[in-house]
Amino acid sequence: MNNIPGKITMSEWSEIFNSLPEKIIERYCYYNNNEWGRYLQPPATFFVYGARELKRLKFDNSLAALRMWGFVFNESERLFRAKQSGKKVIATCGDLGTVPVIIMGFPDCIPFYPECIWWTPFFNESNVLLEPAHQLGAPEAACFSKAALGAFYKRAYFPKPDLIFASTGASCDDYSCVLQLIEGLGYEIEWLEIPYRRGFDYPERFVKYLTNEYERVYKKMKNLTNFDKPEQLAETIKKINRLRLRVEEIKALVYNADISPLPALELMVIEFGNLYGYADIDEWLDIVDMIYETVKQRVAAHQGVLSPDAVPVAWITPSADPYLLNLIEDYGMRVVETEYVINQALVKIEEAIEPFTALAKSFMKASLIGSTRERIARIQKAVAAGRIKGIIITNMLGASHCAMETGLIGYYLRDVPSITIDVPAPSGITEQIKNRLMAFAETLRQGYYE
Ligand code: SF4
Repeated sequence: MNNIPGKITMSEWSEIFNSLPEKIIERYCYYNNNEWGRYLQPPATFFVYGARELKRLKFDNSLAALRMWGFVFNESERLFRAKQSGKKVIATCGDLGTVPVIIMGFPDCIPFYPECIWWTPFFNESNVLLEPAHQLGAPEAACFSKAALGAFYKRAYFPKPDLIFASTGASCDDYSCVLQLIEGLGYEIEWLEIPYRRGFDYPERFVKYLTNEYERVYKKMKNLTNFDKPEQLAETIKKINRLRLRVEEIKALVYNADISPLPALELMVIEFGNLYGYADIDEWLDIVDMIYETVKQRVAAHQGVLSPDAVPVAWITPSADPYLLNLIEDYGMRVVETEYVINQALVKIEEAIEPFTALAKSFMKASLIGSTRERIARIQKAVAAGRIKGIIITNMLGASHCAMETGLIGYYLRDVPSITIDVPAPSGITEQIKNRLMAFAETLRQGYYE
């Protein structure tokens, strides 16, 4: 393989795949099953399965990143395999990162996030999940997480979950309405209440309340599996902390590096892996370790995937369309810091206290259960340190955290220029959006080199 870091097209990815020795392809498999668990596949496989956006996207050319993409695109197959091979498949919705830790403490139980299917319409450049969602009552002006409604309705993107846990209370309204519509289709949902934080000195009773909710999840799982070893949860927490630490290390390398060692798209996929390890946490941990080693070597060698003069920016709120993350790099920017509404999945979980309480305390650091100022504290720090020269905020039309929050974010971070993009429906990125991003990059570049 070529060792010079860079970004490649789908055809270049195919060429690399064709040059890989068979023993490397055999090495990587999910659920430790070498017979049917291989996932290092040529991109044409995912393209044929529907991921048409691959032909427009560019990817990191390291083996670690290509392994990651193979694994991520394989998730739907993996979930069906899980079910066929006798594992329990558990849908965890809305809390983005905490309930799966409990699920993973049970043997052969696989958590996944149905709403994370919101990327599928974009990767597939298709409305086949969004249209049924609209017909079933989700408005057009609602977050693309409504794709989950289409997926539950079509019963084709993941198997019927053995249990569905969903957050409510201080959760996102769009997602909550989508879940209620899914319940209306006849799915039984176990709701968990999330308290609103009211500042970082929130009342202690909130932790108690959440702890009880998590114990309720445990009991449900115990009844489903006849397995009852709470000490296993402490072990799972250690594993999850190892993953979270690795991801923080990757983020720190990306933040500090002179030349960007990893594209923004891959970094986003890595951060979201903290939520549930893309339905095979052990394999995912191994992939993240490999990416970490790759990034570390690049930084040590002063090599990267973008031009050394790319302007450092922060990205706030994940983009449903991955293509946008590619585009800003084409225009001369690089992402060094992010706020993807998943802070709860990035923080360390305390290991020295009772595990359910530890989970509750970690969740109380969540991005979406407090004020905007709390949410963007990390970005504010990077702005104050002079590391960030601009802010990109992506919105979904009608999404609950967007309507009032975007203006506030711009206000709190007014020391640097910001741009807000409403992410359009699949294949909807217009010349106007491209021009705005290009002009933003140019403005930043002028300020950057003054
Ligand atoms: S509106 Fe925001 S928080 Fe809610 S589901 Fe969509 S992206 Fe997630």
